Amino acid sequence: MSSFAVPMLEVPELIAQSGGETLDLCYQCGTCSGTCPWNRVRNFRVRDIITRAQIGLEGYEGDDLWYCATCNACVDRCPRGVEIVDLIRTIRSIIAESGALPKTLRAVMGSVQSNGNPWSGDPANRTAWRKDCDAPNFDASRQYAYFTCCAQAYDPRNARVGRATLKVLAAAGISFGVLDGEKCCGDAVRKAGGESLFQGLAASNVALLDGVGARNVLVPSPHCLNTFSKEYPALGGNFEVKHVVQVLAKRVRSGALKMTREVAVTAIYHDPCYLGRHNGIYDEPREVLAAVPGLRLLEFGRNRAEAMCCGGGGGRLWMETPVDERFAVLKLREAVARGASMVVTACPYCISMFEDAKTALGLEGVTIADVTQAL
Ligand code: SF4
Ligand code: SF4
Repeated sequence: MSSFAVPMLEVPELIAQSGGETLDLCYQCGTCSGTCPWNRVRNFRVRDIITRAQIGLEGYEGDDLWYCATCNACVDRCPRGVEIVDLIRTIRSIIAESGALPKTLRAVMGSVQSNGNPWSGDPANRTAWRKDCDAPNFDASRQYAYFTCCAQAYDPRNARVGRATLKVLAAAGISFGVLDGEKCCGDAVRKAGGESLFQGLAASNVALLDGVGARNVLVPSPHCLNTFSKEYPALGGNFEVKHVVQVLAKRVRSGALKMTREVAVTAIYHDPCYLGRHNGIYDEPREVLAAVPGLRLLEFGRNRAEAMCCGGGGGRLWMETPVDERFAVLKLREAVARGASMVVTACPYCISMFEDAKTALGLEGVTIADVTQAL
């Protein structure tokens, strides 16, 4: 991508009006840059992006602006309460409006626009992933409407996770039915700068859920969780939303879900950023895994709120990253060094990033699994 400049004196005001109200709070301490995981593998100064935004968005070069994986680690550390992820997405949306979007993201946005998903999947085949599952369709007699993440619908690795999830939900006695006609929740679209596209996706999904009378939504992806719970309410969405691990943990606690199958494996849990840091859900997946007979659970050196991102958020899932710069590669090396033969997580993006890391490192003996596959 070539360099570009958008010199507009009113840009700080535009950012403030578009969701980046905290831009003025930044006093340039640089804590965000020091926190950012990119600096373990390359030079990336998020503070510089904020500085340039404060003075009017000049001098963005290459794909720098699109490095941020929206992991929220810097937001947690900022002493001034700057909502850095909101700033990044707002600046991206302003730049994207000028047509300067990285090529791979242009293709992703195009697919979401025409197919309702980022994988160029045929919308008519959205339910094919579950054709052999004995899962009911949603109707208003059921408590939860299961919202299929696009990754589960179109990425074969995540479709396997989806099928395991439906089985576990049924075994746990949860009243649910699977929706039909969803579009991408729009999380990555919005974080990558596709604001107007996001608004259309949100309107479509809210209308779908309202139309079938769904009030409780069950999601397998922390990205859907975040979008439904924090972003859709401002756009007319009025739903209770839960991630799968939350309902499973509740069943484990009440004794309604008992695992009896021995799973003799040493596993390590990776905290997805959008489940952990963005939504504070750390205990539930661990509680479910702790109830699995024979499963020995390890932790990464940095875990929970300090966990390192897989690198797949904010549109990064679709962007090229050299192998040695991939966060999932660093984490997989650590997992193996700690003695784990299984990396467990609870996010479709993390599954994809770790599967790619496994392939890149040739670690055939390591299993990448969702919590529901480890039961
Ligand atoms: S940590 Fe906060 S105040 Fe410090 S440079 Fe980053 S955004 Fe600005
Ligand atoms: S959100 Fe994460 S990836 Fe983005 S700048 Fe902050 S620490 Fe870096």
